[in-house]
Amino acid sequence: MAELGRDVAKARSLLQQGKLVAIPTETVYGLAGNGLNVDAVASIFSTKKRPSFDPLILHTNSLEKVRHFVKEIPAVAEKLAEKFWPGPLTILFKKKSLIPDLVTSGLDTVAVRIPNHPLTLSLLESIDFPVAAPSANPFGYVSPTSPAHVQQQLGQDIPYILDGGNCEVGVESTIVSFEGDQPAVLRMGGLAIEAIEEVLGKIEVQAHSSSTPAAPGMLKSHYAPGKSFVLIDSAEAFTLPENEQFAVLVFDELLPQVPAEKQYKLAPGGDVREAAKQLFGMMRMLDGKDEVEQIIAVKVPDVGLGRAVNDRLKRAAAID
Ligand code: AMP
Ligand code: MG
Repeated sequence: MAELGRDVAKARSLLQQGKLVAIPTETVYGLAGNGLNVDAVASIFSTKKRPSFDPLILHTNSLEKVRHFVKEIPAVAEKLAEKFWPGPLTILFKKKSLIPDLVTSGLDTVAVRIPNHPLTLSLLESIDFPVAAPSANPFGYVSPTSPAHVQQQLGQDIPYILDGGNCEVGVESTIVSFEGDQPAVLRMGGLAIEAIEEVLGKIEVQAHSSSTPAAPGMLKSHYAPGKSFVLIDSAEAFTLPENEQFAVLVFDELLPQVPAEKQYKLAPGGDVREAAKQLFGMMRMLDGKDEVEQIIAVKVPDVGLGRAVNDRLKRAAAID
């Protein structure tokens, strides 16, 4: 089992030795290693069983540090960074050669984020390298939003989990790229597209892709629990399955045609942010219930973080 604690100096020392540490962020827990050390980066891929074509996000604590490892920061990207960092936004930049090609899977762009979590920010402040930190789960599975989730799946493989409690946002970051000054969203996530559009105007969303994605968070099947997972558009579209061993994930209201004890509300208060925060924990909980063979989810309102929630539900169900 990994040691669990709030010791930032210990986490720093392990990272400096090239070891991996699970770190809390506001989105999901990350599996962090020195992003400039090829061996550390290689062990991130092997620990997650992540294919090498799936590039990593670098995390640091200031725009000044970002300048050290990217070629340029377009004016519009800087505007977004200033408004939303630290926060659930990842931006792609042209990389400098000091970043190992393994980090970016050979691409000439690197994904960068300043996460918003006090423990992790103080860790990042205390080191002079960025950390590569994909979600701390085996590749393709649901991302971890609590230290216990990390412990269950990667506890045998890593020395330390920095315990920052439950993740406040609960879904991965929104990824934005810039071709010249033209922005595009590559993955919907914890920063609402509406918030980005308030700064940049209408933005293209390329988040629905298939087998050769620019961002593997775009893979059709991803973030998936182990059980049969079905997504339906609305309560009206629900029909009782033949096998009674099912559970239903609903937004804020129970379906009248289904026994209440089979239903789980993602957001009892009716807030899409609450649904995002609860989503992965609920998926894991239902995945772990012996009496549940099939998970049926109903889409949540497609606004704000509800768009990221629906995106993850589609991927869990592997729907185009
Ligand atoms: P994860 O941290 O596991 O949520 O995965 C990070 C996501 O960022 C993956 O979907 C990556 O493909 C995406 N990403 C990282 N670097 C790049 C890049 N240079 N171009 C496009 N997507 C990227
Ligand atoms: Mg991931």
